[in-house]
Amino acid sequence: MAGLKERTLCIIKPDAVAKKAIGGIVAMLEKEGFDILGLRMIRLTMDDAMAFYVVHKERPFYGPLAQFMASGPIVAMALEKEGAIAGLRRLMGATDSRKAEEGTIRAKFGTDIERNAVHGSDSPESARFEIPFFFSQSDLQPM
Ligand code: UDP
Ligand code: MG
Repeated sequence: MAGLKERTLCIIKPDAVAKKAIGGIVAMLEKEGFDILGLRMIRLTMDDAMAFYVVHKERPFYGPLAQFMASGPIVAMALEKEGAIAGLRRLMGATDSRKAEEGTIRAKFGTDIERNAVHGSDSPESARFEIPFFFSQSDLQPM
């Protein structure tokens, strides 16, 4: 029986864009069966980055993280698949790229715990906040 299609937000972070990993990451997502409903390359301002990561505002890495995310262009994608949220987190690997499982995006393209190549929504609530941060509803039609 088919499960429920779910949407999640994926961001290719500035470190991965700089190392020309956009194509490699998109290829991994497509191979894993994600439908790409929306895709935009943008530059976040420091304010944008702080607003996107507001959930982490009390954490010691909040300022440096926002600075990193505003340091260069990023690629935001709205993805759809059955179990997309957990599925993307699995494909991404551990937050610390040095500990990420072989075959994951972070193992392949990340550097460390901050410069870890990709972001993925961690829950349905996060996805409901993060997808509209980058995409208007009318841009996201099922494939
Ligand atoms: N991060 C960091 N230092 C830390 C933990 C996280 O710089 O000690 C950065 C890293 O880029 C991470 C982001 O903050 O991806 C958000 O952290 P979170 O714990 O939500 O990890 P994720 O959900 O991205 O795996
Ligand atoms: Mg997170």
